[in-house]
Amino acid sequence: MGAKHIVVIGGSVAGLGVSLALSKRGHRVTVLEADATPLPEDHREAFDTWRRRGSPQTRHSHALLARLRNLIRDHAPELLDELKTCGAEELPFTTRARQLFEDPVLVPEDDDVVALACRRITFEWVLRRHVLDSGLVDFRDGVRVTRLESERPDPAAPPRVTGVRVAGPAGEASIDADLVVDASGRRSKLGEWLPSIGARDVREESSECGIYYTSRFYRLRPDAEPPPLEGGVVGRDLGYLKVGLFAGDSRVFSITLAAAPTDEPMRRILRLPGFEAAVEAVPLTAEWADPALSEPITGVHGMANLTNTRRWLVEDGVPLADGFVAVGDALIHTNPIVGRGCSFAWVGAFALAECVDAFDDPRELALAYDASIERDVVPWYDLQVTQDADAVAVAEEQLRGEDPFRVENPDGSNDPRRFMRAVVRDGLLPALEEDLVVLRAFSRTINLLDPPGDLLQNPDVMPRILQAYQRRGERVRPRFGPSRDEMLARFEALAG
Ligand SMILES: Cc1cc2nc3c(=O)[nH]c(=O)nc-3n(C[C@H](O)[C@H](O)[C@H](O)COP(=O)(O)OP(=O)(O)OC[C@H]3O[C@@H](n4cnc5c(N)ncnc54)[C@H](O)[C@@H]3O)c2cc1C
Repeated sequence: MGAKHIVVIGGSVAGLGVSLALSKRGHRVTVLEADATPLPEDHREAFDTWRRRGSPQTRHSHALLARLRNLIRDHAPELLDELKTCGAEELPFTTRARQLFEDPVLVPEDDDVVALACRRITFEWVLRRHVLDSGLVDFRDGVRVTRLESERPDPAAPPRVTGVRVAGPAGEASIDADLVVDASGRRSKLGEWLPSIGARDVREESSECGIYYTSRFYRLRPDAEPPPLEGGVVGRDLGYLKVGLFAGDSRVFSITLAAAPTDEPMRRILRLPGFEAAVEAVPLTAEWADPALSEPITGVHGMANLTNTRRWLVEDGVPLADGFVAVGDALIHTNPIVGRGCSFAWVGAFALAECVDAFDDPRELALAYDASIERDVVPWYDLQVTQDADAVAVAEEQLRGEDPFRVENPDGSNDPRRFMRAVVRDGLLPALEEDLVVLRAFSRTINLLDPPGDLLQNPDVMPRILQAYQRRGERVRPRFGPSRDEMLARFEALAG
């Protein structure tokens, strides 16, 4: 198929992934990035000074999953080397398996389960540097897309997007394109842009994640030896509070605390000294934030209004517009706590590149791309919507003083939803440290290497989880942190 001119709206992780994938295949790519933010000298300066207002989550903890790392390994191995040169570290599953089990029986596929410890800002800086250095992409920053250009030769058919209208340092202009890719993130204007050229309304589904996010970054002191960090990210769910510890590059790590927006007193974690009080109250984070081991290098960043959101650009088997697709958060985004956004963005970017190569007809291209997203990304979105609804229910039950894990109903019957929660807490979680087969299946799934249903449908795995659940009486359940009342008492004890 012939080379095309692709205009990409947004030059962040998704837009850069698309440009890398398409430019390597010989297509002409123009990236339009609204933020007028020249690239800092190096990744350290980027962390200190780069203002990425258009992508505020760059200031938050990020896990970069094996699915993303493998796409980089397979399509841009030199980029992986550049990330490592800037201090990113690979986090192999095999290391974790050897930490936990004596002489674990490993299989070749285990070598694919490798996440990356790297700050989001480092990742984006190295990626942008890489794309610019390739000389294959026309990257224009400070240029905002204001609307789509289109034509409609057949009024009975969807409009055809022919380019974009932009506003930038040189004023307003139109840029022609064979294909426009919206990579403008969760706040994409595609819901306005498409109807304004006569396309059908964009169907959007959105549900609350049930949390807001806070992140703070710390640097390990010189010579300090950190405790082992199980797989690069450790999560502790206290019900009323989710706690995450994320390995980053260059001896930097971050702590994220997340709580329900409805839990008013817990909002103390959004600022100092409440954030630090909570960090000190949880053994995992207290150990890492110990001043003998590390020092904080940022304040506390907060981010609210987190949703699982999906937008449909194909209805009844017909694209809303020809010559227009979306990737990354603009199309689908999910709860950040599961760390999937950058991986989804790249899964979409490389799927799109294949479709661009395979189809000259824009309609066929859009349908093939839509089918790949439906197959590879949508099942994760659906799962997250269900899991977040349950997490919200757990938090509410706890706030009402109920036990969300009490399996038996007053009439003696079992509550299936609570039973599943109990199996996860008292079966799956302990099995991750007791059974290599369960750990492997779980690690593959959370790294997006196997489809979401595989973990619980795998005939090798579920019986093992249930066996671990049957043995729950033999172990003492670990206490990951204080009760909500104890935490609130700590806040009360703070001055101010
Ligand atoms: C709090 C938080 C934590 C997260 N944690 C993780 C994690 O652990 N792991 C993970 O993989 N993902 C995580 N994510 C998701 C991840 O950050 C995103 O999926 C990733 O940044 C890809 O986003 P994107 O490129 O689609 O959009 P963005 O990064 O939002 O970028 C959109 C870009 O488009 C530009 N833009 C917007 N409008 C226009 C316009 N009209 N014209 C030109 N340019 C425009 C913006 O300036 C911006 O640069 C997290 C998200 C949040 C909110």
